[in-house]
Amino acid sequence: MSRDRGPPVHRIEFEMEWPPGHVACYLLAADEPVLFDAGTPDGLTDGPRESETLREGVAAAGYELSDIEHLFVTHPHLDHVGQVPTVVDAADPTVYAPVGVRERFAQDADALAERVRANARAGGLRGDRLTSAVEDAVESLERDRTLLAPERVDEWVEPGRVSFGPVTAEAVHAPGHQADHLAYFVDGDERLLFSGDTVMEPFRAVVLHDGMDDGHREAFVAYFDGLDRLATRDADRVYPGHGAVHERFHDLVERDRESLDRRLDAVASLVADGHETVPAVADALAGDRPSRYLFTEAMSALARLREQRRIDIGVEDGVSRHR
Ligand SMILES: [Zn+2]
Repeated sequence: MSRDRGPPVHRIEFEMEWPPGHVACYLLAADEPVLFDAGTPDGLTDGPRESETLREGVAAAGYELSDIEHLFVTHPHLDHVGQVPTVVDAADPTVYAPVGVRERFAQDADALAERVRANARAGGLRGDRLTSAVEDAVESLERDRTLLAPERVDEWVEPGRVSFGPVTAEAVHAPGHQADHLAYFVDGDERLLFSGDTVMEPFRAVVLHDGMDDGHREAFVAYFDGLDRLATRDADRVYPGHGAVHERFHDLVERDRESLDRRLDAVASLVADGHETVPAVADALAGDRPSRYLFTEAMSALARLREQRRIDIGVEDGVSRHR
């Protein structure tokens, strides 16, 4: 590979149902080819089989799946670890994943279910919404740790310098969307950022952090801290999980910070207008769209506003009511 012009990067796109309609992973063509993230699992859409999409994408770059020597994971969401088993079977690469995932995947699913149930109930979720919140949390844990099998991870990556084959990079902790998320800045004449679900052009990634587990209380602060860390770095080009490859690193870090500030302001106004609970706030934020993916963001925003003493909380019949 020609280091002076920066390493060539090949993008492989998988169709998805939710916006912006795709997720991307990237093959860094080097003496020891590196894959950043691994797309969606087989059968997620009615489109082409996802393992074939991966195989064809790697072939278009002039490689075979079995050539991949290193596999980096930014965060353990379904659309980023879906083809880890395919790559592991075909290539037996060195697998790198954020260190926080090790403990997260080792946790007891029943204990997680209990914490999520308690938080969701206190937030005002009832009936089907409560049941799905708990089921989703457990199913995500079970599914994600099956795809990214912890016993198959070779290196649990701590934030900081990391080298692999001929490449060196810096892993930066950028939580908020997902609590363990790492963004990888690869050294070279051009500094390339494999950003996962951070610093994306179409939108700021939703606050999911650790879902409705206890970490929702710190999710906004964690998100802001991660953006602060990113802002002190630099990237010439960004390869994100969703949306186009771009060169607007600092602009978009700033946009995300402003978006989080605006979200807190919007939730404070909704509370002032009488939206007292998590689902009431999430429904109002979602408008015509499904509000389910905003429950965690709403719960996290309310927790942050309480901590800032911008809103008050009273508990009635076990439900936290904000005003
Ligand atoms: Zn994603």
